[in-house]
Amino acid sequence: MGRFISRTREHVVVIGTAVLLAPAMIGFTAAQGGDQFLDGIGETALVARYLFNGNAEDSSRNHLHATLQGSGAAFVADERFGRVLELTGSGGYVQLPGHALAGEDAVSVAGWLYLPTGASGPVFDFGRGGSRRLSATVNATSGFTAAVVAPDTRGFTEPKAVPVNQWVHLAAVFDPANGLLTTYVDGAKAGQAAIAGVTLATLVGRSAADVAQLRIGRSQDEREASLHAKLRDVRVYRVALTGAQVAAIHGGAAARQGGRGRGGAPVPEISTAAIPRESPLASRLDRVPDIQAETVVGRLPRLPREIPAEYRDRAPGPKVRVIWPAPRDARHVTAPGTYVLTGRVPGTPFEPKATVTVTSAAAASPAPVRAVEPFPLGRVVLDRDTRGRDTPFIRNRDKFIRGLAAASPDSFLYNFRDAFGQPQPAGATALGGWDSQTTRLRGHASGHYLSAIAQAYAGTTYDDALRASFLQKMTYLIDTLYELSQKSGRPATEGGPFNADPTQVPPGPGRAGYDSNLRAGAIRTDYWNWGVGFISAYPPDQFVMLEKGATYGTQDTQIWAPYYTLHKILAGLLDCYEVGGNPKALEIARGMGAWVHARLRTLPAETRIGMWSRYIAGEYGGMNEVMARLYRLTRDRQFLACAKLFDNVNVFFGNANHDHGLAANVDTIRGRHANQHIPQITGALETFRGTGERPYYDIADNFWDIVIGGYMYAIGGVAGARTPNNAECFTAEPDSLWENGFASGGQNETCCTYNLLKLDRQLFMYDPTAKYMDHYELGLYNHILASVAEDDPGNTYHVPLNPGAQKRFGNADMRGFTCCNGTALESHTKLQDSIYFRGADGRTLFVNLFVPSTLDWAERKVVVKQQTDFPYADTTRLVIEGSGAFELRVRVPRWATRGFFVRINGREEAVKAEPGSYVTLRRTWRPNDTIEVRIPFVFHLAPVMDQPNVASIFYGPVLLAAEESAPRSDWRPITLDAGDLAKSVSGDPAALRFTIDGVPFTPFFETYGRHSVYMRVTMR
Ligand SMILES: [Zn+2]
Repeated sequence: MGRFISRTREHVVVIGTAVLLAPAMIGFTAAQGGDQFLDGIGETALVARYLFNGNAEDSSRNHLHATLQGSGAAFVADERFGRVLELTGSGGYVQLPGHALAGEDAVSVAGWLYLPTGASGPVFDFGRGGSRRLSATVNATSGFTAAVVAPDTRGFTEPKAVPVNQWVHLAAVFDPANGLLTTYVDGAKAGQAAIAGVTLATLVGRSAADVAQLRIGRSQDEREASLHAKLRDVRVYRVALTGAQVAAIHGGAAARQGGRGRGGAPVPEISTAAIPRESPLASRLDRVPDIQAETVVGRLPRLPREIPAEYRDRAPGPKVRVIWPAPRDARHVTAPGTYVLTGRVPGTPFEPKATVTVTSAAAASPAPVRAVEPFPLGRVVLDRDTRGRDTPFIRNRDKFIRGLAAASPDSFLYNFRDAFGQPQPAGATALGGWDSQTTRLRGHASGHYLSAIAQAYAGTTYDDALRASFLQKMTYLIDTLYELSQKSGRPATEGGPFNADPTQVPPGPGRAGYDSNLRAGAIRTDYWNWGVGFISAYPPDQFVMLEKGATYGTQDTQIWAPYYTLHKILAGLLDCYEVGGNPKALEIARGMGAWVHARLRTLPAETRIGMWSRYIAGEYGGMNEVMARLYRLTRDRQFLACAKLFDNVNVFFGNANHDHGLAANVDTIRGRHANQHIPQITGALETFRGTGERPYYDIADNFWDIVIGGYMYAIGGVAGARTPNNAECFTAEPDSLWENGFASGGQNETCCTYNLLKLDRQLFMYDPTAKYMDHYELGLYNHILASVAEDDPGNTYHVPLNPGAQKRFGNADMRGFTCCNGTALESHTKLQDSIYFRGADGRTLFVNLFVPSTLDWAERKVVVKQQTDFPYADTTRLVIEGSGAFELRVRVPRWATRGFFVRINGREEAVKAEPGSYVTLRRTWRPNDTIEVRIPFVFHLAPVMDQPNVASIFYGPVLLAAEESAPRSDWRPITLDAGDLAKSVSGDPAALRFTIDGVPFTPFFETYGRHSVYMRVTMR
C-alpha cells in the first residue's frame, strides 16, 4: 500500500489551480503535514507519534491511540507549540497499547519536554515489571538518564543535565544489534551504556499476546512519583535512530526547510568495515569485451545485464554483471544514429562500452497476442507429496481457509452498513487495524476478503462442505452490498429528496464543505445524495476532496487513498463475478464504475495528473486494471475510456507530451513508492488487452525488465530504500541495492511481491518465455510461502533481510488488517494458479512449477497428476490420464545448470535443455503415460548487484537462511570453496537442512526465528 508517493526531481504539485514543477519534493513533505518522510525518516520506521496537541491519539497510520490515566493530566495552552500535555506529578500519565512494540527489535523514543524548576519523574517506562524494563527519567537537579534492566544485564546512561523552564528535546535509543543504549539532549549525544545480550523481546515480550506496560510519565513501580512536566510530539520508532537522525528530529523545522527532507546521505546502518570492494573475480579477469546494441527511435535499448568475459589463461568463468548508465529521458534516441554508453563491472576496473545503433522506427511491430490461458482455480488441486505429507503450499492454504471459514462476513460488511446508516445484525463486530471506525482506508480488507471468498469457493473443489459454506458467504456478502448500492442516489422514502448525479454530490447535511470525519455519530449517511451506483465503506467525500486537492493525513480536511480502497472493493466484486460466478457482483461494480467515470471525465487532464501524483492520497491501486476488466466483462466502452483516465502519465509516458517514460524504456520508478506503482503496471497491461494500444504493453514489459533486473532482492521482492529513507520505496537509483538499499526499517513489502507475481503471470500469457516463471518460482517459494506464520494465518508486512532480522507476523485472527494482511488472503487462496497453463489453441500444456497437484484439463478430457517431493527432492513425475495429441512444455529453471533429464515411460529422452527455457515433448499421449523429470539442484550464489562480496545462497530454487540468535550489526561472514560450493556445505538435502562454517541453514520459507540471508562471502 502506498503512503508515500513517487518523487522524482520533476514532481508535479497542484496548488490551488496552478500546476507547478517542484524542483525537489522537500518543502512538499512538510507542507503536507503527513509523516511520510518526517524529518527525513520514512513513515515505515515510526511505531507511533503522539502530538499531544489536544488528545492522546497516535497520528501515525498505525492508530496506536494512547489514553490518559489517573488525575493530573490535561492539555494546556503553550507559547511555543500551541497546545501541549501537562502532567502535574500527581499520578496522571499516558498509557500506550500494550502490544505496540510486540515483535520489534529496536526502539527509539524522542520527544519534547518542559521541566519546571525542581520537578522530576519518569519520562517513559516500557516493560514487564521491575526486572524487565527500558525506561528513562528526568530530574531538574541531576538531569536525564535512561536504563535497561533485564534478568542478566543492567545498563544505565550517565545523567546529563537538562535546562529547566524551557522546552528541551530528549531521546533514548535502544540498539540491541550494537548492544548500546544511548541518550540525546537537544540533538546531541548525552550518555551511553552497554547492554549487550538484551533483546527487546526480553523486556516487552515477543507476540501481541505478551502484555507489556508501555507508559509515558509513570514508572511500572506504582510507588514512584509520576512525571511533573509538559510534553509535546513524542515519537516511538522501531529503528535505532542514528545521532544524525536524532539531530534532524531536534532540528525538525529547520531541517524540513533546509534540505534533509529525504533522509540526507545514505549512511549504512550495518557495518561495511571488513568488506572488500574488489570482486572475487577481479584477479582472474582478463577482459570484458565491448558490445553492440540496437534500438529504434524513441526507445532506449535493453542492454544485457550479464555479458561473457574473458579470463586469464583462457580459463572458463562466469558471465559478469555490468551496470549501465540508466538515462532519465530518451534524448539519445530521438533520431537515427549511434551513441556510446560506458558501463562498469562492480568490484573491477573494467568499463565495457556499448555502441548503440538507433534506427528509424520500423512499421509498427505487431502487437503481442495473448496465446496462453490459465486454468480455472477449481481445476487444479494441490496434493500431498509422494510420502503423504502436507506440502508447504497445503499447510499455508489451509491456515487461510480455516481462518476464512471462521471469520464472520458481518465484520467485513460492518463499515459499509455504517456508511449507509443501516443497523448492524446482532453480534456483528467491527474490524480493527486499517478498517477501524475512523480509519480513512476502511473497506480495503473487505475488498481482499471478497476476492478471497470467491477464490476459496472456486478452489475448494476437494471439499463440498467447505465449498458450500464459501458460496453461502459470497452470496450473503454480494446480496448485502447490492442492496446498499441500490440506495445510493435514490430517495430514502417515497417522494423524498435525492441526487442521482454522481457529479453533483453535495456536502453532508448541515456542513459547509466536504470532510473525512468518520467518527460514530458524525459520519454522514445521506446516501440519497450520493449519486446512483455509489458503493464504498465510507461516504463519497474523500473522492471529492481528492479532486479538490486534499492531501494525505489524519485531519478531517485530509484523506487517505480513496481509490486504493475502491480498487480492492471493485476487484473483489469482479472476482466474485468472474471467479465465483455471482452476476449481481458485476452489477454493483458496473454501477460504481459508471459513478467513477462520470466524475473523472469532467476533470481537466492536469487535475488528474496532479491527483495521481499526490502523496498517498492519489494512490489508486489498480483502478485502471479493474476499469479495463469491467470493459472486458461488459463490453461497455465507457469503462475502457475510464481506465485510461487513470494513466499515471509521468511514469508511463514521462510527461504530458509523452516524451519518454516506461513506454520508451526509461526508468521512471527511481525512489518511488513500490506498491503504489506495481498495480498501475498490471493495469496498463489490462488496458492493452482492451485497447490493443502497444504503448500500454511496452510499459508493462519494460517495467518488468527494469524492476526485476535493477531493484530486486534475493527473495524476489522489491523496495526497502536507505535513499530515500523508506522501507516501501525503490532505491533512488537502479542497480544500487548496496549503495541505497537495505533500509533499517525493512524491505520487501509483501504486497509488492504479490503484485509482481501477478505481472509475471499476465506477461507470460502474451510471451510464454521462462523468465517470467523463473521469477514467479523465486518469489513464490522465497517470499509468498515465507510470509506466513508457522501455525496460524498471521503474515508479514515487510520481510526484512538485514542481518539478524526476523519476520513479524500479524493478523492471525483476521480482525485487524494492514494492506499486506489483506493481500495475503488473496495469495493463499490461489497458490495453485500458475502451476499449469494451456495454449489458447488448446494444443499446448505448460508445466511451470513442480508442485504435487492434479490438473483437470476438462476441454481435452485429460487429467495430469504431478507427483513429487520437490523441493525436498529434485525429481517430479507427471502421469497422464486420458489421451490425445498435444505438446507438453516443461520449464527448465534458470538454476538448472547441471542438466535436465527426462524419461518417458522409463526411456531416457534426448532433450535440449538450456537453463531458463522450456523443453517441448510432442506426442500422442496415452493413458498412464509417465514423464519423469530430474533437475539436479546445485548450490549457487546470488550476489548483490553492486557489491559482489555480499551474496545470498540458494540450493536449487530454495533460498537458504543462516539461523541467528541475536540482531547483528554486521554481515554474517562465511567462507566457501571457490571451485565447488557444495564442498563447503554439509547436511541433508531431503530435509533442506545444511551447515556452512558451523552455522545451521534452513530454507527461508521455513524460517521463523532470526535469520541472515545475505552473507559476506569469502572464497577460498
Ligand atoms: Zn502491503
